[in-house]
Amino acid sequence: MNLLPVLVQTPVHSELAGPLSYHAEHRLPAGTLVRVPLGRRELLGVVWDSQDESGDASAAPAIADDKLRPIAGALGGIAPLPAAWRQLVTFCASYYQRSLGEVALAALPPQLRELTASQLTRRLRRHTKIDGAAAALSPAVSAALALSVEQRAAVAQFDLAQGPFLLFGATGSGKTEVYLHLVQQLLAGDATAQALVMVPEINLTPQLEARFSARFKPLFGDHAVVSLHSGMTPAQRLKSWLAAHGGTARIVLGTRMAIFASLPALKLIVVDEEHDPSYKSQEGARYSARDLAVYRGRIEGAKVLLGSATPSLESWHHSRPGADGGRYVRLSMPSRIGADAALPRVRRVDMNHQPAKCVIAPPLLEAIAQRVARSEQSLVFLNRRGYAPVLHCPDCDWKSECPHCSAYRVFHKIDRTLRCHHCGYSERVPRACPACGNPDIAPMGRGTERLEEHLADLLAGVLRPDSISAQWPQGEPARIVRIDADSTRLKGELQAQLARVHSGEVDVLVGTQMIAKGHDFRHITLVAAVNPDGALFSSDFRASERLFGLLMQAAGRAGRDAEVGAQSEMWLQTFHPAHPLFAALKRHDYPAFAAAELEQRRLAGLPPFSFQALVRAEARSQEVAQGFLAAASGGVSAMPDAGPLTRLITIYPAVPMSMQRIANVERAQMLIESPSRAALQNFLGAWQTVLQATRKQPAGRGLIRWAIDVDPLAI
Ligand code: ADP
Ligand code: ZN
Ligand code: ZN
Repeated sequence: MNLLPVLVQTPVHSELAGPLSYHAEHRLPAGTLVRVPLGRRELLGVVWDSQDESGDASAAPAIADDKLRPIAGALGGIAPLPAAWRQLVTFCASYYQRSLGEVALAALPPQLRELTASQLTRRLRRHTKIDGAAAALSPAVSAALALSVEQRAAVAQFDLAQGPFLLFGATGSGKTEVYLHLVQQLLAGDATAQALVMVPEINLTPQLEARFSARFKPLFGDHAVVSLHSGMTPAQRLKSWLAAHGGTARIVLGTRMAIFASLPALKLIVVDEEHDPSYKSQEGARYSARDLAVYRGRIEGAKVLLGSATPSLESWHHSRPGADGGRYVRLSMPSRIGADAALPRVRRVDMNHQPAKCVIAPPLLEAIAQRVARSEQSLVFLNRRGYAPVLHCPDCDWKSECPHCSAYRVFHKIDRTLRCHHCGYSERVPRACPACGNPDIAPMGRGTERLEEHLADLLAGVLRPDSISAQWPQGEPARIVRIDADSTRLKGELQAQLARVHSGEVDVLVGTQMIAKGHDFRHITLVAAVNPDGALFSSDFRASERLFGLLMQAAGRAGRDAEVGAQSEMWLQTFHPAHPLFAALKRHDYPAFAAAELEQRRLAGLPPFSFQALVRAEARSQEVAQGFLAAASGGVSAMPDAGPLTRLITIYPAVPMSMQRIANVERAQMLIESPSRAALQNFLGAWQTVLQATRKQPAGRGLIRWAIDVDPLAI
């Protein structure tokens, strides 16, 4: 009889964290997908290797031979998951402090868990048939471009070193073209090699897909390019996953989840917009796909290329040149493609000198009107959706608080609702103040919906001379469109709205960060940030890094076409025009911004000069949530080896989270900090036992859940 260690999806923090033991008639290699009985259910499992680095084959509970159950069957048509994949999963579970079973099973496509062996066999057979039929259709062909001098230099450096690389390239400098070139060079030189290309957001995948498909399907066949992201149906995801695992897919494009794709011949990983917070998972194992990419590249011998115009300060720091240089290689492409395509001129409007309460300063309005008259497009950016963030009664000071959260409900005028953006609680707008009956309650502040309405008023008299017709004898008024999470709720809506922008049916585009990132707009010559000041004085030490990145990205939407780009502008409305962040932005000087910011981080001992983890706890009351954290902290001194383990560790007191209450759940957190990543990892690994024990003690009573977030992005 063969004893098999098998990983199944185990509840979070359960004692069954390691593989379970089953028996099987034949020896099955590690990585084989199997179905196994657990209680009354039958689950998907992965045969694990007692030699795998999990190191805790001993964790498989000793079971008497007569209790040992046989596996229900192996998933025949699918090759075992490679050792490198198992190592990635093992590392992820251990680094982010989650159970191996949870991470391994969550890394597989959901349909694999649901289908029985025979359903799967049918599915595998069907795929081959459909693919055969589709092969006849060939997409539009796009040939490789001759690289610019800067692009050639970046590629040459890439070829010479092992990496990891940080491609620091201005918006529009041709980073994507470099990715395409490197992928092509790899695939042409190695008949089996695979490449993984990641983007932060689903919204950006269609554009990238189109570019990669047009370039590579004609060269390597229609099966060569597949996508992996959460916008796909479970069946599509399974299909892409199988193509990647089987080696027929040579290029996988995807969002953060794609980092777990099984790619037996992986040779290149590209992480585009590597600074983007979407690469960090906010649930389950809170992994950073960017950081896992670097790890994965190392264990699989694949080259890793991180790309951004505004790199994360971590990656920037890791790529510092010089004698005490970092371990990444920095590649720079400072110029935009095209002889005259300059970055937009940045103009700061000092709002201290504008009419009181004005939303769009008169000179900005004038600049937008001129764009409309010239048939150029403007993008007006405000990172807050809805009509107004608060509804307010001037008589009694009532505000539209959410009864379930420590937040205000946002006023949405379109459907006349008050909606909480944290818990979703929604109500019709009251006719009068619920507290004092005053009928004159008023919106306070401004979101994109209100900005759109306001701009329509302001631009009402601005007509487009090129649109004179029988219907519009003096020209049609400016056409305004709003793009944010509300206007794009329906499937396909975003693509449709973007298509209207691309085809020139829109003069002024109003929106949130959704439109500030990544899109390759050709006719936008003015970008305006209406109210960027909020993040300047935030308590979150990463807020200014995010603001700078976002504004730089937004600026990058302007003047992407050299024909019209010569006079493009980025406008900033601010009460702090002399702020160093805006001064650096005006010069498009990310290195100066990063140097100043890193110096502050160094003095304050913040990342990347220290390493952090947060323990979060949720309960019906703050006392319970904080009590649990305090007890777990108190338990540290009784840990074996407490002395050496805590030598470089600082444990801060438990505090309420900045969003203290969501959907009637109170949230608290505790920060753990260390100048040494290894020390932090050792401590967290050992402390897990204390946290799990505390959960079962009186201090854990009433606790809803707790979780560790390693390298948290928001504190
Ligand atoms: P980024 O990803 O850095 O924002 P892209 O790769 O999207 O830049 O390039 C910006 C524009 O310049 C695209 O329209 C692209 O087709 C074009 N482009 C890039 N490289 C070249 C090149 N070598 N020759 C001509 N056009 C190029
Ligand atoms: Zn009132
Ligand atoms: Zn709420």
